[in-house]
Amino acid sequence: MRYGGPGAERDWEEGRKRTKAELNKQERKVLARNEKPGRRGLEECDPLPARKERSRKLRNAKRNKSQDSGIAEMEELPVPHNIKISNITCDSFKISWDMDSKSKDRITHYFIDLNKKENKNSNKFKHKDVPTKLVAKAVPLPMTVRGHWFLSPRTEYTVAVQTASKQVDGDYVVSEWSEIIEFCTADYSKVHLTQLLEKAEVIAGRMLKLSVFYRNQHKEYFDYIREHHGNAMQPSVKDNSGSHGSPISGKLEGIFFSCNTEFNTGKPPQDSPYGRYRFEIAAEKLFNPNTNLYFGDFYCMYTAYHYVILVIAPVGSPGDEFCKQRLPQLNIKDNKFLTCDEEDGVMVYHHAQDVILEVIYTDPVDLSLGTVAEITGHQLMSLSTANAKKDPSCKTCNISVGR
Ligand SMILES: [Zn+2]
Repeated sequence: MRYGGPGAERDWEEGRKRTKAELNKQERKVLARNEKPGRRGLEECDPLPARKERSRKLRNAKRNKSQDSGIAEMEELPVPHNIKISNITCDSFKISWDMDSKSKDRITHYFIDLNKKENKNSNKFKHKDVPTKLVAKAVPLPMTVRGHWFLSPRTEYTVAVQTASKQVDGDYVVSEWSEIIEFCTADYSKVHLTQLLEKAEVIAGRMLKLSVFYRNQHKEYFDYIREHHGNAMQPSVKDNSGSHGSPISGKLEGIFFSCNTEFNTGKPPQDSPYGRYRFEIAAEKLFNPNTNLYFGDFYCMYTAYHYVILVIAPVGSPGDEFCKQRLPQLNIKDNKFLTCDEEDGVMVYHHAQDVILEVIYTDPVDLSLGTVAEITGHQLMSLSTANAKKDPSCKTCNISVGR
C-alpha cells in the first residue's frame, strides 16, 4: 500500500502559466492557413449516422455541370463562412455559419470535418490521427453535434464545413470547404463528476478512524515557507494529474494533504514519495462544520491503487466559490470517503480504507498550527502522483463520455 503526502513536487508557478494559456485557447481562432481538409476523412473513416449514404466517388459541381450540359446549368453550392461554435460542453457543441442564399435550397447535407488539433503533425498511422467526418442531414442552424465518440473533454479541435447535395444515384455534389476554425471542448460538468463519484463510492470500502492530516516535503520546502512566506504554506495551482477534463486541473489552488492511516496502527504510515519531512496537523483544524467538502476526482495510474481527490474549503472562501460551481458537494457527516462528526462533544474522523485520498485544502496553512518532523520510513519516489496520467482503459474509474 502506498501512502504519503501528495503534492510535494507540484510547482504552482508553472501551473499558473498553464492555466492562462489554456483559458486563451478556449477562444476560437480562424487559422491563418486556409488549408483544405483531405477527402481521406470521408472515404476512410466517417463515423456517419447514415453510413449507407456515403458517397463512393465525390464529384464536384464543375464536373456535374459538364455532364448535365444541355439541361439547366447547375449553380455551385454555397460555401459556409463565418463559422461559429457555441454551447460547448465536454462532449457536445453547436455549430452555425453564414452562406449565400443562392442555391441554398439544393443543400441536402452538411459535411463536417473534425480533427484533433494536437495530432496534426503526428504519426499518420496512429489511430488517433485519423480525421473524422460527420455527414449530417441539412437542418436549420445552429446544429448540435453531441455524444460523438471523437469528442473528449478539454481537447482542441479544428473544424471545417462543406455543403452537399445528394443526387439520385446516391453520390454527392459538394461545395468548397469553408475556412478552418479551432475550438476547445469543456471540462467535465457536475453531471459527469457525479457519475465518477458514484463509481468511486462502489470501491471506497469500510471507514477507518483518523486524527491528523499530513503533508510530506523536503526540508528545503519548509525552510522556504518559514523564510519567504511568513511561516504559512501557500495554495498552488493543481497539476494535470488525474482525469483528463477534470475542472480542477490547472485551475484550483490549494495545498495537498494525505489522511490515510495504516489499518494495524491507526496512524499515518512512515513512508512517503514526497520527502522526508512531514507536517502533521490535527484533523479538526482543517476539516470541521465551518468547511465544505467536495468530490474532485477519481483515477488510477495503471496499478491496483485508486485515488480519490477531495477538496476542503472554508465556507465562503474563494476556493469554496470555485468548487460550488464545478464540483459535487459531499455531506461532511455522511459520505463514503471522509467524514467529520461529533460524538460526546468530541470531533471524530473517518476515512475510506480502500482508496488513497488526496485532500486539497484551499486556504493557506500556518506551520504553527501543527508540527514538522522527519519520518523514519523510506521515500518511495515511484509512487508519486505528480502530473501522473490516468489509465483511460480502467473500467473501475472511467465514465463513458462522448458515446
Ligand atoms: Zn482505475
